[in-house]
Parts: sequence; C-alpha cells; structure tokens
Amino acid sequence: MNSKKSLLIIDMQYDFMEGGSLAVAQANELIAPINQLMELDWDLIVASQDWHPRNHISFASSHMGKTVFEEIILTGERKQRLWPDHCLQHSHGAAIHAELKLSEIDEYVLKGQDPAVDSYSAFFDNNHQKKTELDKLLQARNINDIYVVGLAGDYCVKFTALDGKQLGYNTFFISDATRLVEPTQADVVRAELEKNGIEVIRVADIN
Ligand SMILES: [Zn+2]
Repeated sequence: MNSKKSLLIIDMQYDFMEGGSLAVAQANELIAPINQLMELDWDLIVASQDWHPRNHISFASSHMGKTVFEEIILTGERKQRLWPDHCLQHSHGAAIHAELKLSEIDEYVLKGQDPAVDSYSAFFDNNHQKKTELDKLLQARNINDIYVVGLAGDYCVKFTALDGKQLGYNTFFISDATRLVEPTQADVVRAELEKNGIEVIRVADIN
C-alpha cells in the first residue's frame, strides 16, 4: 500500500523573514527550495502560522523589566524564551510570504492564539495540552508520512517534527529547507531529531 505524504510548511511568515521583527538569518533563501518541494506529488500541503494576540506571553514587551531573548521561568517551572513582538493576528508580519506558491497550500493551521501559552509545535501548545487542527487534518486524509520544512529549525520546525513522530507519523526533517535561530546548534538539533527516530534528509533526497 502506498503511504500518503504531507508537506508541512512551518511559519514562513514575514516577521520571521528578511526585514521582519524576528528575522531568522537567510530565511529568504528557503523560498526557492520550498517552492520546488511544493511542485512534487503530495497528498496534502499544510502551512502553519504563528498567530499571536497582543500581550502574548512570549513577547518581552509583555513582561515588565525583561529583555528580548531572555529566558524566564513561568509557573510550573516551564521556561519561556522572550521574543520581540511578532506575528500579531491579521498583521502583515503574520502573513505567509507571497513569493511562496500559495495556491498549492491546501490547509492552514494557526497556533499560539492563547495569550498565556506559547506554541512552537504546529501540533500542540508548549504545555502539550491543547491540540491544533493539524493532527485532525492529517488523519482525515490518512496521511502516514510528514515532511517538515520552514522556520525555525531549532524551534517550531523541530518541535513539530518531535510531536509528529510521537503521534505516530513517519517524520522527515528536510535540513536544507529550514534555517535556525542559532545556526551553531545545527548538530545538536540533528542529534536530538535522530535520537527520536526522525529522519534528517535533504531536498535532493526527495522525488
Ligand atoms: Zn511566536
């Protein structure tokens, strides 16, 4: 039986790209390879969007006296890294970059709407309590294999891959179709993914 495949394009939003409030270095270099991937034969293409309300818990501006990129401890000993304001609901910064082949996207998944809980993964919030629509969308199309790309490789792409694997999907992380907030962590991220049974591949490995 053929396995059904889905391409998950994570957070390719203006705020994470060149000129954005939380720009990831070289993020615009992803547009070409992701467009190339979208041309392949997928059963479902999903794009996720970070989609925050004002005063979101992940914004440094929401915490008096705290600075951007600082890590704070929330109740329950959860850690939260603080970011510049980004991906405000309905803002330009939250829109998916228009140079991507938007017409190929079948479904959109929003995450991070709860002001009190961040959501790196496109499957679950960071407390691992509330699910997004993503698992349901994949189940509805009987998807077995997921291929994860986009931004950023050490945050939302990584956590989406880890959750996807845990939910039982054969999970592939396409290393040259992502960019990291901290590129020096590439080997650490790869080791963590592989330890959890996720295959780290390259665009050229897919056809
Ligand atoms: Zn966010």
